[in-house]
Amino acid sequence: MDILVINAGSSSLKYQLVDKETLQVLAKGNCEKIGLDDSFHKFEIGELSETRVMPIPDHQSAVQAALDVMLDPEAGCLKNLSEIVAVGHRIVHGGEYFSESVIITDEVRRRIEECILLAPLHNPPALMALRACSILMPNATPVAVFDTAFHQTMPAKAFMYALPYSCYKEMKIRRYGFHGTSHHYVAERAALLLGRSLTDMKMVTCHLGNGCSLAAIDGGFSVDTTMGFTPLEGVMMGTRCGSIDPAIVSYLIENKDLTPDDVNNLMNRKSGLLGISGVSNDLRDVQEAAAAGNEQAALAEQMYAHSIKKYLGQYAFEMGGLDVVVMTAGVGENSARMRELIFHNLGTMGIIIDPARNALSGGERIISSDNSRVTVAVIPTNEELVIVKDAIRLIG
Ligand code: ADP
Repeated sequence: MDILVINAGSSSLKYQLVDKETLQVLAKGNCEKIGLDDSFHKFEIGELSETRVMPIPDHQSAVQAALDVMLDPEAGCLKNLSEIVAVGHRIVHGGEYFSESVIITDEVRRRIEECILLAPLHNPPALMALRACSILMPNATPVAVFDTAFHQTMPAKAFMYALPYSCYKEMKIRRYGFHGTSHHYVAERAALLLGRSLTDMKMVTCHLGNGCSLAAIDGGFSVDTTMGFTPLEGVMMGTRCGSIDPAIVSYLIENKDLTPDDVNNLMNRKSGLLGISGVSNDLRDVQEAAAAGNEQAALAEQMYAHSIKKYLGQYAFEMGGLDVVVMTAGVGENSARMRELIFHNLGTMGIIIDPARNALSGGERIISSDNSRVTVAVIPTNEELVIVKDAIRLIG
């Protein structure tokens, strides 16, 4: 019995097939450039690792391509599709409807469709993948795991924007937060690593990948998070600007002859590490350029650390204390240098990093020194595992 995890983007579809009993990953892959001329399917099954350039016109073809390699009589890992008992779908936006994962019924699908207005780029491909899976695997139970669900515990004072109340009431404009599956997972893993209960800890989890967000987690509940109505708000990211003065938007439209779409594009795709450094959205390239004397790259690196430090301080104050900080995702897990910059000079705030521990790599680990009042841990995230476990729990 296996669980299939599906993470559909507008032109990509990532998947993993996981054994329900052992939680072992049996196959994983990614169909990219769906609908374009140069689409391809990259996958790993056992020892086999392959990239097939092939036409993938839509999400159903992508799911079919994944199933074809898994069912391959020689290299595959499935004898027939009935071995897949559930399909766990990562859904970016569940609005205010979902505070936990659910089995997808017609009613749930309608709610996800309603949330297209809030996530026009993300929910439609997820719905396409959902439709494809129910056609190709009608007997597998579909499960939805929402990026927004974990943050539904935020109090109104944290999720409301100080706009006219009608913007919330009529248009549902509020902070939703994203990366919830990751924040929840690393918080729980950190509690296990420290041998403490989540219920008596004040924690800030930092998910620093291409997209970046921080969450304030008090007693196990998300009480604030940096991403907001969309994943653009908050800390500086790879290509996103994070929080800026909102008046800049109309200023750019009026004075630079840009359309709202142009500004959206500028803030989402041309800003952040890429925009400041002019080098790359990948922190590794930015750090390399900075080390070689590129001043804009050095500034980008400093700004990135600064924006994270700012929210760390904010959340410690909001929660009235801080016990644990967790670093995760591409940057959080791998960049010792960025961690060093973020936590530099915080000794008086009770955060002291042990340089030797920080320099080590791999696995779940503590990087703060023994005399640091706040424990800092690195916890590799695993959103797929959460989706699998939620699916197993829901199908019983
Ligand atoms: P996504 O948000 O797409 O899931 P990841 O969590 O894999 O992405 O993070 C990708 C980012 O992690 C890369 O763009 C890169 O900036 C950063 N990264 C990965 N490894 C390192 C490293 N060793 N040093 C610095 N940055 C790294």
